[in-house]
Amino acid sequence: MSYPALATRTAVVTGAASGMGAATARLLAADGARVALLARRAELLEKLAAEITAAGGQAIAVTADITDQASVDAAAEAVHTAYGPVDLLVNNAGVMLPNPLADGRIDEWTRMIDTNLTGALRVVRAFTADLVAAAAEGHPADLVNVSSIASHVAFPDYAVYGATKAALTQLSTALRTELGPRDVRVSAIEPGLTDTELGGHIDNPALREQLGGMFEAIPALRADDIADLIAYTVSRPRHVNLRHLVALPTRQA
Ligand code: NDP
Repeated sequence: MSYPALATRTAVVTGAASGMGAATARLLAADGARVALLARRAELLEKLAAEITAAGGQAIAVTADITDQASVDAAAEAVHTAYGPVDLLVNNAGVMLPNPLADGRIDEWTRMIDTNLTGALRVVRAFTADLVAAAAEGHPADLVNVSSIASHVAFPDYAVYGATKAALTQLSTALRTELGPRDVRVSAIEPGLTDTELGGHIDNPALREQLGGMFEAIPALRADDIADLIAYTVSRPRHVNLRHLVALPTRQA
């Protein structure tokens, strides 16, 4: 689908190196938005920025680790220098590291909480003033948080991942009470099984196999499906806030 209303927008997409973030950045740029691509893998970001530019779009690669406050500060400065204030923030970066809770993997818990929750908050902190200012000038302004179906459906061994996503969905709900009255929309998108590299960091062979089995049993969503949902959400008239969307593959209950 094409969303011409996006042509005026200036966006930041975190986790743009791969998966849903890369797909969202591509779609926003194809519709005319200027897009800042944030993630840690500079090479992938540069490649995507070059691809978007070659197709006639506008994008910049901004290497950033959202678990590192100084890195987020530097990224925000780079975005502002290149594009000025932004009016669309897609808070999409995340990691999923399942293991039985009894294994006590504090390393994985810390990484998930730092990325999926504190990292998302760091990015919100960096760009909320821009969103509020854009809305005050009468423009659309959006904060989109990519949460997960795991925020409200329990999967064994995914307790901490689910807890971070439940927190992100709840954060979206709470932020609406602060930002909605200032005309900034806040949306939580909760995808189900989607074919990306997210599961590639799982270090438990049985859980890797289990996830692989799910992909064999269920035709998963594609990253492009979620990109389309995000582009649709942020291109509604500015008084319409699609606040909470759950998108599942048809065969996932
Ligand atoms: P990917 O692994 O392809 O994308 C995750 C992105 O996050 C990568 O581009 C990665 O880039 C970036 N990232 C990870 N850690 C950091 C960090 N510390 N700082 C900056 N960027 C970081 O998977 P998806 O596209 O699937 O994931 C996107 C979002 O969707 C995640 O929040 C995930 O939890 C959520 N989700 C995914 C589902 C699925 O089935 N795939 C289902 C429901 C929700 P880099 O490594 O270069 O930093």
